[in-house]
Amino acid sequence: MTSGTVRRYRNYIGGEWVEPASGEYRPDIDPADSRTVLGEFPRSTAEDVDRAVEAAAAAFPAWSSLSGPQRAAILHKAANILEARAREIGEALTREEGKTIGEGVGEVLRGVAILRYFAGEPLRPLGEVYSATNPETFLYTERVPLGVVGIITPWNFPVAIPLWKLAPCLAFGNTAVFKPAELTPLTAHLITEVFVEAGLPPGVLNLVHGPGSVVGEAIARHPKVVAVSFTGSNAVGRHLYQIASERGARVQLELGGKNPVIVAEDADLDFAIELTTSGAFRSTGQKCTATSRVIVLEPLLHEFTTRLVERARSLKVGPGIDPTVYMGPLVSEEQRQRVLGYIEIGEKEGARVLTGGHELAEGDLRYGFFVAPTVFTDVEPGMRIAQEEIFGPVVGIIRARSLDEAIEIANGVPYGLSASIVTRDIRRAFAFARRIQAGVVHINSETAGAEPHVPFGGMKASSSWSREQGRAALEFFTQVKTIYFDL
Ligand code: NAP
Repeated sequence: MTSGTVRRYRNYIGGEWVEPASGEYRPDIDPADSRTVLGEFPRSTAEDVDRAVEAAAAAFPAWSSLSGPQRAAILHKAANILEARAREIGEALTREEGKTIGEGVGEVLRGVAILRYFAGEPLRPLGEVYSATNPETFLYTERVPLGVVGIITPWNFPVAIPLWKLAPCLAFGNTAVFKPAELTPLTAHLITEVFVEAGLPPGVLNLVHGPGSVVGEAIARHPKVVAVSFTGSNAVGRHLYQIASERGARVQLELGGKNPVIVAEDADLDFAIELTTSGAFRSTGQKCTATSRVIVLEPLLHEFTTRLVERARSLKVGPGIDPTVYMGPLVSEEQRQRVLGYIEIGEKEGARVLTGGHELAEGDLRYGFFVAPTVFTDVEPGMRIAQEEIFGPVVGIIRARSLDEAIEIANGVPYGLSASIVTRDIRRAFAFARRIQAGVVHINSETAGAEPHVPFGGMKASSSWSREQGRAALEFFTQVKTIYFDL
């Protein structure tokens, strides 16, 4: 359906593409050129959520009764379809979220790898056999699905994050109600299309577009939603945890970060500059694992600072669809204002902007939400720009006099998602790996980056108890049944 020349998209509930109960829609804007409307998407309400949950509950008995290999076959098919559509979906992602085309297509291919990995999961052992006191008892455990799961996701990885939740959720026999971020509904629509094309039975996956405060809230409160897997901000995550866990639902949270790189005295400077640049400015700094603090040991401070500034100035900023662009726009005007607000806070706190610090509005860039790559110096560990997640292309340089002090600074924030050190000294690397408070630790690689088949998640305020991806997903998306089988 179209309104004028703009296509109108619908929710996907119970195996059908349906209008929202409200009859209302919202435009999806290209952040590199806000004059372009990519489509109109439903403003759903609790009524749509209720229909989606009922459809998911009705589909659960049949879906959970299929064998692992039967469910795996559908996930394999979805992986093949996604792979065949990687360029098209990658372009849609770039147009909708703003990251570069290389990152967009790369994210879709990561989605393919995630689907293939989780297609293998139901074929692996899902229980254990124990020796019972009575020799006539066959005693074993079996991991079984939970039921209807709510999947609530952010806009910054609109293909990979939904898939690393949906793939294990469905592979282990659960059914899902999926609420993507309102800023990236098109990619969510395309992922859902892939599952439909792969032959997922009606009701197993239900897509409900709409504002988090209405749709996300209704999912978290719905008595038939037995688990909620959420990735997003700390404020929303904590709120959801309260309302969903209060009624006994299982909740998984992946939240923010304030990820440091430590540049040790012996670091290879060229390498440290490249690793910091990529970690801070790729995806416009809009990664939970983005590098936002670089803690530099005093002997290297001056040269590192000069060269990082030069490198940041050299980066080509523009619409991500241009393959020569290094950094695209921020996802929305609201996000741009938030980032500019933090830059102002930093200056007021006494830190100095060495490059960037402003929006970019020359020529056609004025239609997008661009901010120049920004480097702060004279950052003190206690400043707000060194403590709070900015989620934009802003990195602060912090001075340290020793490795001990650098690690103390790195650990001195509420978050603990990812952290990195650049060093050629095995003792320094080992001390860092041992003492750093982070769920993901990198030695000589950037803070951003995670393999789809290994556990991912943070410490402290960055995550809840569980880990995502790899074998760890089994813990969240299944429950253990212990069976005493007296012969
Ligand atoms: P967000 O504002 O918390 O939104 C995340 C999701 O929650 C969106 O779908 C949002 O919907 C929904 N939501 C908002 N308010 C809600 C409510 N009251 N009840 C239920 N759902 C609600 O986060 P974001 O701005 O999209 O994403 C950026 C954040 O995600 C950053 O903090 C980043 O670090 C974090 N992140 C963490 C990881 C990780 O793995 N640790 C990965 C990526 C991102 P609407 O947007 O449609 O309102």
